[in-house]
Amino acid sequence: MNVLILGGTTEARELATLLSTHPKITPIFSLAGVTRHPLLPQCTIRSGGFGGINGLKHYLHTENIHAVVDATHPFAAQMGHNAAAACASLCVPLLRLERPAWSPQPGDHWIYAHSLNHAAQLLGNTPKRVFLTTGRKDLSAFRTDTAHHYIIRSIDPPSIDECPQNHTLLISRPPFSLESEHALITSQRIDILITKNAGSASTAAKLTAARHLSIPIIMVQRPKRPSLTCAETPESAQLWLERLC
Ligand code: NAP
Repeated sequence: MNVLILGGTTEARELATLLSTHPKITPIFSLAGVTRHPLLPQCTIRSGGFGGINGLKHYLHTENIHAVVDATHPFAAQMGHNAAAACASLCVPLLRLERPAWSPQPGDHWIYAHSLNHAAQLLGNTPKRVFLTTGRKDLSAFRTDTAHHYIIRSIDPPSIDECPQNHTLLISRPPFSLESEHALITSQRIDILITKNAGSASTAAKLTAARHLSIPIIMVQRPKRPSLTCAETPESAQLWLERLC
């Protein structure tokens, strides 16, 4: 059974690795091609967009794909909609693999934003040092702001014209430890953190560090997705696929 895994998350890579030695399932791991040096599983890899819903339908048909797992990032909404439409039209089974969202713990001070633009508005005008961990592709909402100083953390460096005027760039790849997040928030004199509710264990330490240091968090909520059968772990996604074999 050929299974297309739409990647971009740790869970996608873990599922592809689990399936790479499976006797009945052949995974094909697909990436958008936006990360410069992605970590890759040991299986067939493809990279780059399909060309919308019709391009994906064409791919599913010509590559004889029997099932699709949408394991894209919780904030990668377009690919999820395309997969839902293409799979429904070809009657190809589709599973959404998505880790649970983070939820606030006692002592947290979360301010909810429904989008990145909303997050930027919530900062107000009083100058702050803002720890921005939304990723290099999500800087446009903050680009023209001159009131605040942004400490921008991303895996790949953004280009200078994508960044707000006042910024410090930190290039690093998760996982991040509680100790290092604590040290970073303190040494950079962070007043507020902005993050998307990605739900990843590898980037959750900043939330705990912010709680310990009484730093408020602007938490950008996940976008709406098509309602689909959902698995929260690579292991349960594998079980779902095995039931199709
Ligand atoms: P998006 O808005 O859902 O997708 C934009 C376009 O990129 C899609 O229409 C599709 O192009 C292509 N694409 C996305 N995921 C793909 C995949 N796995 N394989 C092949 N093509 C794919 O996604 P995005 O927010 O731009 O994110 C791009 C990728 O980065 C996603 O795979 C996502 O999992 C990963 N990522 C995103 C975030 C985030 O915060 N958005 C964070 C970490 C990782 P076509 O229409 O041409 O098929």
